[in-house]
Amino acid sequence: MSSHADALLVTCIDFRFWEKVSNVVKSLYKIQTMDIISFPGGVKSIVDDGVHSPVLENIRLSVTLHSVDKIVLVNHRDCGAYGGSGAFADREGELDTHFNDLEAAKDILHREFPEKEIIISFADMKSGMVDIVKEHQ
Ligand SMILES: [Zn+2]
Repeated sequence: MSSHADALLVTCIDFRFWEKVSNVVKSLYKIQTMDIISFPGGVKSIVDDGVHSPVLENIRLSVTLHSVDKIVLVNHRDCGAYGGSGAFADREGELDTHFNDLEAAKDILHREFPEKEIIISFADMKSGMVDIVKEHQ
C-alpha cells in the first residue's frame, strides 16, 4: 500500500505561525494533501547540522512514505530559535538572514532530492496577520 501527498511543509513549532502558515501555503501553492514537519527554527537545523539534521531525517521519511512532489520550507519573523527579531539590527537584516538560511537549506535538499520541487518562503506578521513572502526582493 502506498499513499501520496502533494507536498511536505517544513516550518517552525511557533504557535503564532504554524497553523496559519499551513493554511496559507496550501491555498497559495494549490496543495490538497500535505505532510508537515515542525521543528524549532524551521530550516535552521538543516543549515546547522547538514546531513545529520533530525529535520532532514524526517524529510527523508516523508519523501519515502508519501513521495511528495513539493517540499515547502517556511521560516518566520521573530523566531525564538534565531533569538527573535531583537537579535537583528533591523527588519531587513532579519529577512536577509532567514533567506540566506532558506537558500542554503534548499541547496542541501536539492542535492539529496534533485527530482523534487523545493519552494522557500518567509512568514511575516503584519498587523496580527500572517503574510507569506515568496521571494526576497
Ligand atoms: Zn520559530
